[in-house]
Amino acid sequence: MSEPDMHILLAYKSHREGADDPYTSLLPVGLLTINAVLREAGFSSLVANLSRIGREEIIRLLRSGAPSVVGLSQFTHNRFETLEMARLVKEVLPGCFVLLGGPHATCRWQEMLESSPCVDAVALGEAEMTMLELAGQLRSGGIDPSRPIPGLAFRGADGRVISGGQRPVVERLDEIPLPGRYIDNSIGVDPRQQLEFLITSRGCPSACSFCSSPRFWGRRLRFRSPGSMIEEIRYLRDRYGLIYFSIRDDTFTADRKRVLEFCRLLLEQRIFVLWNCQSRVNALDSEMLGWMKRAGCECIQLGVESGSQKVLECLGKKITPAESETAAILIRDVGIRLSVYLISGTIPETDEDITATCRLIESMRPSDGQVSPLVYYPGTALFEEGVKRFGVAPDLFERDRSPSFPVRADHNVAKTTRRLLKSLESVAGRTQFIDSDYRGHKKLLGYCHTTNLMAGEYLAACGNELGAEREYREIVMSEPDNPWGWLALGEFYGDCGRIDDSIAAFLRLSELVPSHEPAFRALGELFKLTGDRKKSRYYQKRADELLAG
Ligand code: SF4
Repeated sequence: MSEPDMHILLAYKSHREGADDPYTSLLPVGLLTINAVLREAGFSSLVANLSRIGREEIIRLLRSGAPSVVGLSQFTHNRFETLEMARLVKEVLPGCFVLLGGPHATCRWQEMLESSPCVDAVALGEAEMTMLELAGQLRSGGIDPSRPIPGLAFRGADGRVISGGQRPVVERLDEIPLPGRYIDNSIGVDPRQQLEFLITSRGCPSACSFCSSPRFWGRRLRFRSPGSMIEEIRYLRDRYGLIYFSIRDDTFTADRKRVLEFCRLLLEQRIFVLWNCQSRVNALDSEMLGWMKRAGCECIQLGVESGSQKVLECLGKKITPAESETAAILIRDVGIRLSVYLISGTIPETDEDITATCRLIESMRPSDGQVSPLVYYPGTALFEEGVKRFGVAPDLFERDRSPSFPVRADHNVAKTTRRLLKSLESVAGRTQFIDSDYRGHKKLLGYCHTTNLMAGEYLAACGNELGAEREYREIVMSEPDNPWGWLALGEFYGDCGRIDDSIAAFLRLSELVPSHEPAFRALGELFKLTGDRKKSRYYQKRADELLAG
């Protein structure tokens, strides 16, 4: 067990205070897994998202919590905010051990330690086991310079920077405890929002020139087992009422057999959830997509980047526009929504290349997409090339406070971004599946709640109430224990003014998923409409308790 005075705070602060986006509202998942490993080993630790918390409140939190160790997660966008936090911690708690981790710190550890006296150490790459060993040494009196910790760089007593070298990665990801079990005492974190995001594998064998993911997680893929994924989903459904998940692996479908087993378990154990994931255009096939859709996958995001082979080659992205087109056809055939990531402002980009990307968007017809200007990140081949060939300053990230560094700063990049966004908007009206598509999906896959939910939503939007109700009712007739059917019916009846039917549907949902806060909130509102104040208050209170708990 830990000493009572050894308390660890794992924190993150984004660069835009007050912004309402995932950068500010969500913690990096890595902090949650480090926290889980520490807590399971008996250390007292907690996670904090300080992005929306002002300086005075942070000082108060530091004073009252008095952590002995503060670990800060550093990305390129928040590198200065993180250093300011490190300074603040040392100001308030001079004896506190401050370390940085995360993708930016991993790539710039030497610069950090040499130029920032407020930083005592940097954890390199994935940091669960490094933190565990460090916490153990600190608890026993401090870092022993004669026994450098693998994966940790630190400043020795004489001011010299010492690196413990690379730490072997965690081989068995299943052994990392579930983060959701240890989020209870967090600060600035909404567990329901945060825990929707799952990571089920680490590593990427590709070497895209703009991406530092392989440098951080390694190039060898490691996977959690389907059983561990199911355990996490079950836990989050039971504890937090979550029935929608976003799987953030770089390429969720990299191991086909694992994906099929995951889908089989979801179906066999009647775990009715919806989910989305990221994949690669050349890591998909129609059989796997069919099972993914049956098991609740409603959207796939693909890193398409460009419609120009020349640009793809320059990015080191080993895919072709033809593969992107084929992936889009396969995804559309089973009726999963498609979202694409595109890149603008590459060095060789010409008007022809942009036109090729617009043509690709036209043919792929994604439901939505993101266009990001190509930027330099530390630890990427792109940045190294920029330094060698294009006069980019090697200390770019230290000397310039910009949150990001576009490779091309000319106004054409903004123009290209706008053009690609317009192209995405222009196909938006033609991406929606229509009646004939849904008939095709049903013929191909048989009954599947994901199709019914999408079809019901489409029919309701078209004003076809009878059709929408039929789709939703088919779900609860086929699978009376499917919460999504009851949720869809509850909302649909509510919209139609059928209050009693809506109440009945939400009551059934609340029985199936007793932690589903929105169901209790809806019941509170619905009973208010019926004039039953007592029941309304009861369900509102229950919803509040769920949120607080
Ligand atoms: S962009 Fe995706 S595929 Fe390419 S290296 Fe990064 S994670 Fe891997």
